[in-house]
Amino acid sequence: MRAETQILSGDVVSINLRILEIQRRYRDVIARELPAPVCAQLPATYILETVTLPFAPHLFREICLRLIPLLQESNPEADYVPLLSRLDDEILWQLAGAVQHSPEPDLAMALDLAVREVRIDKLPVPEADALRMLFLAALMPFFSAFARQQTGIDLSRWQLGWCPVCGQYPVNGFNRPQDGRRILGCWLCETQWAYTRFTCPVCGCRGKDGQLLLVPRGGDRRRRIQVCEECRHYLKITDCTQAGSGCDLQLENSATIHLDVLAQRQGYRPASHYRLLIQ
Ligand SMILES: [Zn+2]
Ligand SMILES: [Zn+2]
Repeated sequence: MRAETQILSGDVVSINLRILEIQRRYRDVIARELPAPVCAQLPATYILETVTLPFAPHLFREICLRLIPLLQESNPEADYVPLLSRLDDEILWQLAGAVQHSPEPDLAMALDLAVREVRIDKLPVPEADALRMLFLAALMPFFSAFARQQTGIDLSRWQLGWCPVCGQYPVNGFNRPQDGRRILGCWLCETQWAYTRFTCPVCGCRGKDGQLLLVPRGGDRRRRIQVCEECRHYLKITDCTQAGSGCDLQLENSATIHLDVLAQRQGYRPASHYRLLIQ
């Protein structure tokens, strides 16, 4: 309960926004410093299944050092500077490789496995959950920089429920202004693609009237939860049909953590585990 209260506080939302600012600044730095191979056609599964993600230990370390003070604002125990000083380039390369080649498709779970595989968990780690948050947040700009460089594929032909670039399932999306189509967004690499609102992106189950919508009482009625009764996963959807443009899905994701809590209290799960708030 303490974690939920913390998560819902305005301070945490503001911390998330500052984290996003750092991630986007580094996304641009990484895109400049680490040119990625550009995929020329839609992949059968997703691009990063076969292409190696460009990575640089010095940038990963730099991003971590900028994120640690922010994470410590809500969790003073999360001082990872001493730990980071013990992780040399070789270990960070191994960590990045183990994450990308993990048998576990969900990146948050893959990261947990990778931390064990390269034995970082054997070092004195103050809080394993917060370390996962830090590493995830520091890896995200490498994925979004890679996705930004994928200008050679026509995403209007992508018809699967997971991200065509990195393979993660979406946690949120919006209905776009022009035609109301549902646009899903990747929380990891920020790729967006259109996906029919009648079908669950996780299990492919097709509802006669679309997926079930939960609209929280008294809240902003444009922000909804779409649930699948078949696989019990949910998505957060923002209705932008009356707006002049779509929305920034990363900002929207931070601003709607109350919807995650609501859906998870009712027994639904996010399609990507990094947003799992209630065990
Ligand atoms: Zn992605
Ligand atoms: Zn489903």
